[in-house]
Amino acid sequence: MIVTDTLNIKTTKIGQSKLANVDFQNLPFGKVFTDHMFVADYEDGEWKNFELMPYGPIPMSPAISALHYGQAIFEGMKAYKLKSGEISIFRADKNFKRFNISAERMAMPTIPEEIFMKGITSLINLDKAWVPEGDNYSLYIRPVMFATDDKLGVKASSNYKFVVLTNPSGPYYSQPLKVKIETHYTRADEGGVGYAKTAGNYGRSLYAFSQAQKEGFDQIIWTDSKEHSYVEESGTANLMFVINNVLVTPSLGGTILDGVTRDTVLQVAKSLDIPTEERKVPIKEVISKIQSGELTEAFAVGTAATITQIGIIGYENDLFTLTDPTTRVISHKIHKVLDDIRYGRSEDVFGWNTIV
Ligand SMILES: *Cc1c(COP(=O)(O)O)cnc(C)c1O
Repeated sequence: MIVTDTLNIKTTKIGQSKLANVDFQNLPFGKVFTDHMFVADYEDGEWKNFELMPYGPIPMSPAISALHYGQAIFEGMKAYKLKSGEISIFRADKNFKRFNISAERMAMPTIPEEIFMKGITSLINLDKAWVPEGDNYSLYIRPVMFATDDKLGVKASSNYKFVVLTNPSGPYYSQPLKVKIETHYTRADEGGVGYAKTAGNYGRSLYAFSQAQKEGFDQIIWTDSKEHSYVEESGTANLMFVINNVLVTPSLGGTILDGVTRDTVLQVAKSLDIPTEERKVPIKEVISKIQSGELTEAFAVGTAATITQIGIIGYENDLFTLTDPTTRVISHKIHKVLDDIRYGRSEDVFGWNTIV
């Protein structure tokens, strides 16, 4: 992707970098922020006031409409330190497109590619020393846009802020997940906002999630809102199964997020001649194929942890134990191909890396 340099970005640098205080051996997800952030405003129908400044609080009115009426969207992607020493952002073009799809659905202004990309790349360049090196290390990038009109009254806001935050992130040690198939609460419904990465989708999921945690589960498998009989997705990840050596994942249909990792895993699988199916996945099929031994792998796919193995599935009052995650072949093979591309150890045959 070509990133031109025509934005006039005002830069205010931090007095003293916080980098020396960071323990890179212990990086909890999303808690350590780099020195700076990128901020832009949407006012009078245009994007303006591009600024790199020290990460910190932004003063605003408690009346801002994002807080009251929920116009807030975000993205999540990662930059990697390549074997060559260069820094590369993985599939940023897909995150950029999805950001604007979310914006349109939430009646928010779209953002031009130049501002989105330049905001991210100029921030990474300023905080380059923060991009960690090595297997399983990356820089997590969180763009967010929210409504800033400081008037009450339900309507689309006229003013917005776009902010980019970055977190160094490290290995995501995760035991195989114990997940609950949720058959009461729903995450999204047809005609709703399930395909948008918008704040309310997460807010509405938290109660069901906390109930599942009380029952000893790590995560929820959401099901369709009409019958609760088809698999949708998980917290912030899409779901995949290997059934009779076919990689199966729920098709996109407006209620689930079009995950970049989902698409990436499907493309890598196809390149390895692993058969794939995007279709409705009935819960009954998942359970019966676990019991018959034909379902050999189940995993969640998303930017934060890439591939997270599922060890146990709870459905109604039963627990179903899956195959030993260390013996799974297809997901491990795909993960390796993916890591080799992301860390620049193999050729970027898909054109997924954008060098910063
Ligand atoms: C972010 C997210 C995903 C995963 O998308 P990626 O682009 O792969 O990170 C899946 N489902 C939901 C609900 C999400 O918020």
